[in-house]
Amino acid sequence: MPSALSLLNTVFGYNEFRGAQSEIIEHVVANGDALVLMPTGGGKSLCYQIPALMREGCAVVVSPLIALMHDQVAALTEAGVQAAVLNSSLDQETALATERAFAAGRLDVLYVAPERLVTPRFLELLSRSKVALFAIDEAHCVSQWGHDFRPEYIQLSVLHERFPGVPRIALTATADEVTRAEIVSRLQLDEARIFISSFDRPNIRYEIVEKQNARDQLVDFLSSRHPGEAGIVYCLSRRKVDETAWWLADLGIRALPYHAGLDQHTRALHQERFVNEDGVVIVATIAFGMGIDKPDVRFVAHLDLPKSIEAYYQETGRAGRDGLPADAWMTYGLGDVVQQRRMIAQSEADELFKRVLYSKLDALVGLAETAGCRRVRLLDYFGEASSPCGNCDVCANPPRVWDGTEAAQKALSCVYRTGQRFGAGHVIDVLRGHPTERVQRFKHDELTTWKIGADLSDKQWRAVFRQLIALGYLEADSEAYGALKLTESARGLLKNHVRVSFREEVAAPRRRDRRRSAAAPGLAQHANEGPLLEALRNWRLALAREHGVPAYVIFHDATLQSIAAAQPQTLEDLRGISGVGARKLERYGEALLAITGRG
Ligand code: ADP
Ligand code: ZN
Repeated sequence: MPSALSLLNTVFGYNEFRGAQSEIIEHVVANGDALVLMPTGGGKSLCYQIPALMREGCAVVVSPLIALMHDQVAALTEAGVQAAVLNSSLDQETALATERAFAAGRLDVLYVAPERLVTPRFLELLSRSKVALFAIDEAHCVSQWGHDFRPEYIQLSVLHERFPGVPRIALTATADEVTRAEIVSRLQLDEARIFISSFDRPNIRYEIVEKQNARDQLVDFLSSRHPGEAGIVYCLSRRKVDETAWWLADLGIRALPYHAGLDQHTRALHQERFVNEDGVVIVATIAFGMGIDKPDVRFVAHLDLPKSIEAYYQETGRAGRDGLPADAWMTYGLGDVVQQRRMIAQSEADELFKRVLYSKLDALVGLAETAGCRRVRLLDYFGEASSPCGNCDVCANPPRVWDGTEAAQKALSCVYRTGQRFGAGHVIDVLRGHPTERVQRFKHDELTTWKIGADLSDKQWRAVFRQLIALGYLEADSEAYGALKLTESARGLLKNHVRVSFREEVAAPRRRDRRRSAAAPGLAQHANEGPLLEALRNWRLALAREHGVPAYVIFHDATLQSIAAAQPQTLEDLRGISGVGARKLERYGEALLAITGRG
């Protein structure tokens, strides 16, 4: 039997295991059950793909995501592994042929949709075949409380009952303890060893900026930091998705919309272009992303606030699976908090559940308003301790922290004096002494709080109000269009029992300049990347079209970049490059040398 490491080298072309991969593989190969918690991009697939090649028989992988199954099979096939898929997208003839190949022992890995796996017919087929292991991908789909619940996943406990001797490995990127416990009990994994990796994604740079003109901010972000690169822009509403996509396209950016209101054909087409072509920007509602395995997504931008830290982390986690630097960038303002709160208030959920939703939102607002490292805060939310990362906007450019007690008191009194019926905009007008029509209509220029805040700018007051909401001193009434109201804890602050500090962003140096100076060799910068890399990309694109697979299935960006940097002259040189396995060397080695020889 070949060793795990030699399979990693020859089949997948990688030099060493990452994190706990090797331990997990060893455990599963030795017949053990495993529950693997690893962040997106951590390398979960190899944890069952390598045991599949080491154990006798075929590995059966359950996955809820049709597109993802196809991409995985394409990638395995490129690497020379006998892999196939069974799901509802196949015609009957192909499905039958695949079943025959499986029963005859001609497959190493078979991906199966859960609803098919649990049919009596398929269980019977399993009992006639040699199964190397069961892998249950996206295992959090068994959780009824989770956002991806799949009823068929609950029936997967049948695998243990019917095939007690076959090891099972369940995998997920959902970290919280409740979900973990639910997976263990529903899938009967009580005996399984649990492997928990750090959830940090060190190559993702987190940045949350104050919303001013979101579109201009987005364009500035795209053009200065990601020209020509692939990424996802998330918006809350379908309309905003359409408008943003049109508007970016007008500026010459290859942007495509994606949301549930588009017909299925258009959606599939846009997703396919995003996955298969270089440098497409998808503008989407949250309906987009699950099951898209594209490794070279260079940024995820949020124009609207997600619902929770979990959602934010899952969405931003789609950036940089390949381990190369990537950005998670979000614009955020007071209006976002008001909007999200209104959506919760108007939802059908019962009071208890609404309270959970509010507290999840509050945690995210706390992240947006933190004066400390974003990553520390994120990981802390998932129960992981860490120290300041040096790769987020706060670490790079620490905000000024000032004693805001007096400003907070002025703000709270003004909310109170104006009757707790107005949003932040009007209250700020009163504080700063702007004699607007509304101020005059309500005679707010006669209040004791009129003009007591002229020492701070509009922008500074907006930051104060955002933070007062984030800290729980004010709440935005969701029924009354964001009218601000004092909370219980506001009293302590007004009576001088507590003090508060606020953060104030210090004007950041332009990222563009810093990136140029700090840019490591090999960073994808399409605008001025070398002609060699461009030639390699073009070759890859042509080949991907010919094979009908996504470009990254042929070679990842990281691999092309290493090739461009190393300029190998012999097959032996090429073999040493991460991502070039034996099969790919055999198939593509000469073609690559023809290109690098030229370069
Ligand atoms: P996950 O399923 O955990 O999101 P994947 O299994 O898709 O992650 O792996 C993420 C990426 O990392 C893939 O492109 C994979 O080829 C790559 N990868 C996994 N393990 C290694 C390794 N040991 N060395 C180099 N690259 C790896
Ligand atoms: Zn940091």
